[in-house]
Amino acid sequence: MRYVIIGGSAAGISAAEAIRFVDPTSEIQLFTWEHTPVYSRVLLSYYIAEILSKEQLHFRPLDFFKENRVTAHLGQKVEKISPETKSIRTEDGRDHPYDRLLIATGAWPNLMDIPGKEKKGVFVVRNLEHAQAMVRHLVKPTPVCILGGGLIGIRIGYALSLRGLKVKLIIASDRILSQMLDLEASTLVRERMQERGIDVITGRNAVKILGGEFVESIVLDNGEKIDCQMVVVGKGVEPNLEIVSSTSIKTAEGILADERMRTNLPDIYAAGDVAETYDLCWERTNVNALWPVAFEQGRVAGLNMAGRETKYEGSFRMNSLDVFGLPVISMGITRSEGPGYQEFRASGKEMYRKIVLKGGRLVGAILVGQVQKAGVLTMLMRKKLDVSGVVPFLLSKRLNFAELLPLVKQNQEKFTEVEYRELTQRFAASKA
Ligand SMILES: Cc1cc2nc3c(=O)[nH]c(=O)nc-3n(C[C@H](O)[C@H](O)[C@H](O)COP(=O)(O)OP(=O)(O)OC[C@H]3O[C@@H](n4cnc5c(N)ncnc54)[C@H](O)[C@@H]3O)c2cc1C
Repeated sequence: MRYVIIGGSAAGISAAEAIRFVDPTSEIQLFTWEHTPVYSRVLLSYYIAEILSKEQLHFRPLDFFKENRVTAHLGQKVEKISPETKSIRTEDGRDHPYDRLLIATGAWPNLMDIPGKEKKGVFVVRNLEHAQAMVRHLVKPTPVCILGGGLIGIRIGYALSLRGLKVKLIIASDRILSQMLDLEASTLVRERMQERGIDVITGRNAVKILGGEFVESIVLDNGEKIDCQMVVVGKGVEPNLEIVSSTSIKTAEGILADERMRTNLPDIYAAGDVAETYDLCWERTNVNALWPVAFEQGRVAGLNMAGRETKYEGSFRMNSLDVFGLPVISMGITRSEGPGYQEFRASGKEMYRKIVLKGGRLVGAILVGQVQKAGVLTMLMRKKLDVSGVVPFLLSKRLNFAELLPLVKQNQEKFTEVEYRELTQRFAASKA
């Protein structure tokens, strides 16, 4: 058996590990266009903030490939997949045959098409090279404009402000983190950022980047000009579908993968940010571009590729971040999407909790300031339990989990034996 993996990040590495776990001898070939292996993208903002060094970004030891007998082709771009001959072609023109193939090519930032985007000082952050280029460019206290108010924009803006740069966020929508938060939660985050010196401009787009070789300013759609020596574009990501475009592999937003992470073509699997799979909250397929999701999908793909049938249960969106000491978690569907949905809220000084139910089932939550019970909320969402009888408990900061014991007992069939035993013991002990 010859396994080929395209991608050397969360999904690719966890697939290699899973294959090796089941199959100790067969050949595993892994291709990645990056030169630095096994680092976590999630930690890049900490690297930019100088909280972590490059070495601290590794999520597996550097001898991972040797230890797992994986042949790693670093800095090698795969240009073509040929399902008819069961082979892939790398940019040097060589063909590599496979018996089982995993596509784990991840995602790439959406680039803005505005005049001046090619000037020095305009950055996106997806990989270590981007982060290193940005760090080399930093001169304190350079004013920086971040275009986009999503998670990456906020993380990078926060990191740069910790390094003493003057940060302005320019956001097209009416609030920051609009995909994750509602207006109340977003306002708390915005206030915290503004208190700590990050300016937030909402409802505006940048239309031009001005300067000579280097960025000197940006122009907004209302004509306002903002001086800055650096621009960071954080406008979301898109699955890397380029190599499947010439194949009959089925795609929607991402590559459609079934509950064993198989594509529609035999012996070709997909996992991670490039894959579109079942979303437990929306109850349809979705791309949930998240590190733990990519890791789990890679693991399930690897096990199935190696012949150990394993079902992927599905995922939902879940993000957490800390903004100058204000913890924020968002999961699943965070606002009512029509009939059948109910929203419940609790708020106070610098805290906000909201849960969203659909037909009595918990499908989403936002926690700001008080993030206790996030783990339990996740469990309730995964198990699709009817939580309408415990809403006050879920909204409160009370931690007496014994209040959930009857709910777990009534739904024993939804838990494995081990889960049921552990939960009932833990919840019963919480009473004491
Ligand atoms: C700054 C930043 C912060 C983030 N913060 C969070 C967070 O807080 N929480 C969270 O859950 N997620 C976060 N993410 C997202 C998370 O990093 C991704 O969900 C995760 O990396 C996806 O893993 P993946 O293996 O699917 O793909 P990727 O990590 O995108 O890796 C893709 C791999 O494929 C390779 N590749 C692609 N095309 C080719 C090709 N043609 N030939 C060869 N190799 C190829 C690349 O070299 C790479 O190794 C963050 C991302 C960034 C950039």
